[in-house]
Amino acid sequence: ARNTDGGGIAVIGLGRFGCHLASSLTQLGHEVLAIDRNGERVQRWSPYLDRVVQADATEEGALRQLGVTDFPRVVVAIGASVEASVLTVLALAELGVPQIWARATSDKHAKILGSVGAQHVIFPEAETGERVAHLIVSKMLDFIEFGDDFAIAKVRVPDALVGRPLRELAPADRYGVMVVGAKLPGERFRYADPGTVLAPGSVLIVEGSIAQVQRFAELS
Ligand code: ADP
Repeated sequence: ARNTDGGGIAVIGLGRFGCHLASSLTQLGHEVLAIDRNGERVQRWSPYLDRVVQADATEEGALRQLGVTDFPRVVVAIGASVEASVLTVLALAELGVPQIWARATSDKHAKILGSVGAQHVIFPEAETGERVAHLIVSKMLDFIEFGDDFAIAKVRVPDALVGRPLRELAPADRYGVMVVGAKLPGERFRYADPGTVLAPGSVLIVEGSIAQVQRFAELS
């Protein structure tokens, strides 16, 4: 079933980042229009995406012809060429696209993208690099940071939290982290509540400050 909530999404630039973005959006059920100026890239992705077209996205006329103005959300996934990325965002802004997402490769690039009309600027390399660094040096199994020193992590259960209900073990008081979800061995993730009793081998979703979440992961 097509997910038509909020209309389709156009993805410009089918490099390593853009192709994963376009296929994930397609898997999530969204209508995707993918655009790349490179014919080989277009051919390569045509079997896997609904609509893949070859065009130079810096040209406003080409974007208009492709019907990009019918898309409420457009993502500029071009990374290597700052010029192409900025000119594309400018063309989209001139066309009046309401929600422009653009990928930046540096802080200055991000500033320019914002000033020419991108509402959302993303840093896939910087964010992934930072996240993977945390995973490599800590015992966390997964980690998302939200700014303002707040994070959510997937961690193995420490022995100290096994065998009695969470209400008695009070992880928030003892470790400063909130246990929000738990996956007992062989089961699915569920919300954690005061009555949850964890078993050895359980995996938890916890939230708190970055330092507290990391310290908690070290207990496992
Ligand atoms: P990645 O790091 O994700 O591989 P790249 O910047 O190397 O990103 O790739 C960006 C993609 O964007 C390439 O496939 C390139 O052909 C495409 N691209 C670059 N400039 C334009 C443009 N003006 N119009 C359309 N597509 C473009």
